[in-house]
Amino acid sequence: MAENKVALVTGASRGIGKACAIELAKAGYDVAISYAGNEEAANKTIEELNALNVKAKAYKFNVADKESCAKAVEEVLADFGKLDVLVNNAGITRDGLFMRMSSDNWEAVINTNLNSAFYMTNPAIKTMIKQRSGCIINMSSIVGQMGNAGQANYSAAKAGLIGFTKSLAKELGSRNVRVNAIAPGFIQTDMTKDLDPEKMAEHIPLKRLGQPEDIAKTVKFLAEDATYITGQVIGVDGGLVI
Ligand code: NAP
Repeated sequence: MAENKVALVTGASRGIGKACAIELAKAGYDVAISYAGNEEAANKTIEELNALNVKAKAYKFNVADKESCAKAVEEVLADFGKLDVLVNNAGITRDGLFMRMSSDNWEAVINTNLNSAFYMTNPAIKTMIKQRSGCIINMSSIVGQMGNAGQANYSAAKAGLIGFTKSLAKELGSRNVRVNAIAPGFIQTDMTKDLDPEKMAEHIPLKRLGQPEDIAKTVKFLAEDATYITGQVIGVDGGLVI
């Protein structure tokens, strides 16, 4: 039997990351997941991944910390032997009008949502370049394209991920490493639990909020089927950005 491909999904104890890990496992990937501190949710995700008969392991570390990210990638490589897909998904919001935005809230969001992609991708691509194959998927957002009042920090981080994606795609194309971003619209997770789904849906052409699985299917497509797609930002937003 051919050995399974290996995916590492950050922030996969809950929400979009969890759905991505499960979708990749359904496609036969062994999956390493990361989380910040929610042990119970991470264990539940691992149980669900094990039920799909793939190898799965959870790693607790802060994606905003460079050394922890390097150590985690090293551990994943030691445990799984290789890395085919990296999904830079972990993220947070610290919303507020820019006039009153603290440096702490600015830095927390930039470090967790943007610098994390550098910290994770830097060690990961070394092994992908050696393998002469790999796929990196960065979880951006429609607000990285449109901006959003009250989210200057988050929009800056998500727009930064788009520039990062396009530049890295140009650098790594010749090594057969593809780099793409996904720009989700409003997806029903803990992050958006305070939004009124019916009110939001009025503005969305498909008239519903997205589900984590809508993003997960796109991750699986980019990882498995999109062999000639790199440097792109795939909008998965029910038509919100047209
Ligand atoms: P979520 O439900 O709040 O889940 C966040 C995940 O990230 C959890 O697994 C959490 O771990 C992990 N995490 C948070 N901070 C971390 C840190 N410092 N180090 C390591 N892990 C950390 O979020 P989501 O809605 O699924 O969002 C996932 C990604 O999609 C984010 O990048 C978000 O910005 C992006 N996105 C979401 C939406 C949306 O509408 N939901 C739209 C556009 C883009 P714990 O469980 O341990 O806390």
